[in-house]
Amino acid sequence: MAICKKLSAHKKLVKPRAEIDWNPTIDYSKCNGCQICVHFCPKNVYAVTDQKPVVKSPTSCVLLCSRCMQKCPNKAIRFPDKADYVQYISYR
Ligand code: SF4
Ligand code: SF4
Repeated sequence: MAICKKLSAHKKLVKPRAEIDWNPTIDYSKCNGCQICVHFCPKNVYAVTDQKPVVKSPTSCVLLCSRCMQKCPNKAIRFPDKADYVQYISYR
């Protein structure tokens, strides 16, 4: 098993996910509605309203994941600073 999978198996949140405000935000002045983020996210965090993505299920976003941000062609997706959120994960 790869080391990252071993770590993942022991990964626990130190408080309920609903109390951790890690989720994407969308800058609609940059978003062109391509929906790449919507189709990319495996957790169904996004929905579509008026042909633009909306963050429908913010607490479904995996803590410290920011992969959809890298997929956005217009740099319209933002996340908080990861350094402020590592405290919420325990690997024991
Ligand atoms: S990938 Fe970026 S530009 Fe495309 S819909 Fe999502 S936020 Fe908007
Ligand atoms: S960061 Fe990951 S889990 Fe969160 S919305 Fe983006 S792709 Fe989905």
